[in-house]
Amino acid sequence: MRLVNFQFYSSILTFLLLAHVQALYVKPHLERTHSNNLTFINCRSRTNSLINQYSSLILNLQPALRDLSAPSASPAFTAFFKDPNHAPFIRRILQNITTAAPTPAISDRAISPSFVCLDGPTQVNSTEYDTDMYIRCQDPHGPFATTLLESPAEPVITLCPRFFHLPVRLQRSKRACLEVGVQGKLFLSDGLDLIRHQSWVLMHELAHIYLWNTLGSRMDYYNVEQCLSLPSKRTVGNAESYVYYVANVRLGCTLFPSRPHPPRRGIPHHRGPANATVFDSEVQWG
Ligand SMILES: [Zn+2]
Repeated sequence: MRLVNFQFYSSILTFLLLAHVQALYVKPHLERTHSNNLTFINCRSRTNSLINQYSSLILNLQPALRDLSAPSASPAFTAFFKDPNHAPFIRRILQNITTAAPTPAISDRAISPSFVCLDGPTQVNSTEYDTDMYIRCQDPHGPFATTLLESPAEPVITLCPRFFHLPVRLQRSKRACLEVGVQGKLFLSDGLDLIRHQSWVLMHELAHIYLWNTLGSRMDYYNVEQCLSLPSKRTVGNAESYVYYVANVRLGCTLFPSRPHPPRRGIPHHRGPANATVFDSEVQWG
């Protein structure tokens, strides 16, 4: 009887998993290039630039990895993650990003993330967003990039044509650090200028994949004040908190608001649809 039940539930589970896998459609026969564990689909002449951005990201993550091994928490760590006990988990996420670690798949082989460069319709269709992802790119307030988590067997990040208009050269000067004002209690901007960069967007989307696979988290707060205001436990689930932390350590920023504040009135609630990277301050996804 038990066996019958097991088979019964097993067949339902198989059906559900297959249905889940089939939810994400990536057009077959698009050109694919493999590099550093990653797969770049339909990126053609942009593949080398993306590989360079990813290599640059790996280098830019090193100061944060060293920071996480330091005997005491840095100001950037305290600002964005608060509790030093989070350090081992954060290091694991950053290491997964630097190695493009394979994610546990429902099949017997683990698969590393793929980037799809969208340049036309019918290339990627998402049931989660209920749309052709290229059509979604046409929205001027839409995302630069989106992580699709509906198929655990194939973590896919789509890149809109607008992604390639973001800066390629990273600011490396401490002068790029966010300015603190209002008696040292708030950043003077929403922080997006700091992270509006191709390699930080790649990092953000990769963080989504590993946070989904470890915590089941799809948190997506972009505004730096919101990131600072998150309770300690929630900081580790928010992809952009990792980007702000890594970028601040990379630049050598040491000045942060004296204590977390709730977002100021009038600042849009930058919570996008799960896993979509949007920077436009006009965007309000609700
Ligand atoms: Zn996101």
